[in-house]
Amino acid sequence: MIVAVLLIYLVIIIAVATVIDARHVRFYMSGSDNVTQEYGTTFKDPGIYAVSTGKLFGEGNRQLEIKTEGTVNTEALGSYTIKYGVRYLFRDYSTERHVNVVDTQPPVIELKHKEGYEASWMTGYVEEGYTASDNCDGDLTAKVIRAENEDKIIYTVTDSSGNTATAEREIQYIKTEPRIVLYGDENMVVTASAGFTDPGYSATDGAGDDLTQLVQVDSNVVAYLAGDYRIVYTITNELGNSVSAVRNVTVIPANRPDVVTPDTKTIYLTFDDGPGPYTGKLLDVLAKYNVKATFFVTAANPKYYDMIAREVNEGHSVGVHTYSHNYKSIYSSEEAFFEDFYAMQDVIYEQTGCYTNLYRFPGGSSNTVSSFNPGIMSRLTKALTDMGYKYFDWNVSSGDAGETTRTNVVVDNIEAGCRGMKASVVLQHDIKDFSVNAVESVIIWGLQNGYTFRALDMTSPDAHHGVNN
Ligand code: ZN
Repeated sequence: MIVAVLLIYLVIIIAVATVIDARHVRFYMSGSDNVTQEYGTTFKDPGIYAVSTGKLFGEGNRQLEIKTEGTVNTEALGSYTIKYGVRYLFRDYSTERHVNVVDTQPPVIELKHKEGYEASWMTGYVEEGYTASDNCDGDLTAKVIRAENEDKIIYTVTDSSGNTATAEREIQYIKTEPRIVLYGDENMVVTASAGFTDPGYSATDGAGDDLTQLVQVDSNVVAYLAGDYRIVYTITNELGNSVSAVRNVTVIPANRPDVVTPDTKTIYLTFDDGPGPYTGKLLDVLAKYNVKATFFVTAANPKYYDMIAREVNEGHSVGVHTYSHNYKSIYSSEEAFFEDFYAMQDVIYEQTGCYTNLYRFPGGSSNTVSSFNPGIMSRLTKALTDMGYKYFDWNVSSGDAGETTRTNVVVDNIEAGCRGMKASVVLQHDIKDFSVNAVESVIIWGLQNGYTFRALDMTSPDAHHGVNN
C-alpha cells in the first residue's frame, strides 16, 4: 500500500517536474539549413544531432536518435528538402535543411583545327569546326552563336542555367586579291561587224592559282552598231567582294566612199527575188543593149544559182536580198537577220568568189511587216550602214509586185516613174516573166530619151524610203 502511494507520488513528481522542466528536443545542425550544391557533385550532409533539454535540468548528454527523410539528387537541378525527425516523450520533433542543386559551370567550347588549312581571298574563312558541351545540358554545339569579322571569329554559347562561354579564333587569310589580266588592248577600236571577238583574259589569285574560269564577263558591246561600249570582267569571292577589270570598246563605222551624183539622167534597173527561170533571158536582153543592172538575189531557186555568176561576169551588180525571204524570221532579231544575210552572202561567194556590199531589205526599209519587233528597221539600217554595207530601196515601182501582171502596164509605170527624174532606182522582179518582158521596151525608150543605164555600186545615190519601224 505504501509502495503504491509512493509510486503515485513519484509519478506525480515526475509529471510535475516534466511540465515545469518543459523537456523538449533541441537540434544542433552543422552547416547551413539552406545549402547550395553544384550540379553533378556528391552531396554530403554536413551533420546534425539532437539532445533533450529542459528548464530545470538542462540538456541531456545523450544524443537522440534522428530519423532522416529526403534525398538530394545532384544529377537533377532543383530544390530538395531533408527532414530530420526525433520522437521524444511521446512527441515528434523535426527540422529541415534545404539543398538547392544548381549549375554554375559554363559550357566548354572546343575549336577544331584542320592541318595546313589557309583561308583564301576567294573562299574567305571556311569553318574548320567546333563543339560545345555542358556538364548539365550535354551537347550544345547547335546553340553556338558564331560572329565572324575580318580577322577573328567569336563563338558564344549559353547553357540553360544562363552560364555563358566564349571562344575566339584568329583567322589567317591569304588576302591578296586576284589579278585579272586582259589580253589585247584595254581600249579597243574596231570597225562595226557582225560579231566582236574578245581577245581574252586570265585571272590568278594571290597563291598563283588559275581563276580564269571564275571570271564573269559583262559586256554591252553591240558589234554591228557604232558606239562606245564596256566589257567588265569580275571575280566575286564568297564574301561578296569583287575584283574587276574593264575594257573599253569603241565600234566605229566602216569607211564608205562618197556618193557621186551622176551628171546624166540615170536609170538603175534593179531586180529582186531571183535568180529564176527568166533571169537568163533578161541577161540576154541587157547584153544586147550593153545595159548594166542590179540583182538583189535570194536562195529560193538553187537550180539557177549559176545565174548569179553570170550576172557578175557580165558586169552587173549583185546584192543580198535575203536567203529565206521569211519576214517573221528575218526581222525577229538582229541575230536572225544576220544569219539570213550571211547565208545569202555565202551563196553569192560560192558563185562569184566575192562578197557584196549591196543590200535590199525584203519589203524595203520602210516596211511595217516587221512592226512585231519594234525598232528593228531603225537598228538594222544603222547597223548595215555602220558595217559598210549600202542598202537601196527604190523610187520607181514597176507595179509588178501585185498591181499588174501586164507587160505594157509595167513599161508604162517605169517610164512614167523615171520621167523627169535625175536618178531612178526601179524595182522589178526577175522571177516574173511579164516583168522581164518589159525590159527591152524600157531600155529602148530610155536610150532614145537620153537616159543612161547603170548598175548600183557604193557610190550610187541613196534611194532610201523613210524608216517606219
Ligand atoms: Zn523580195
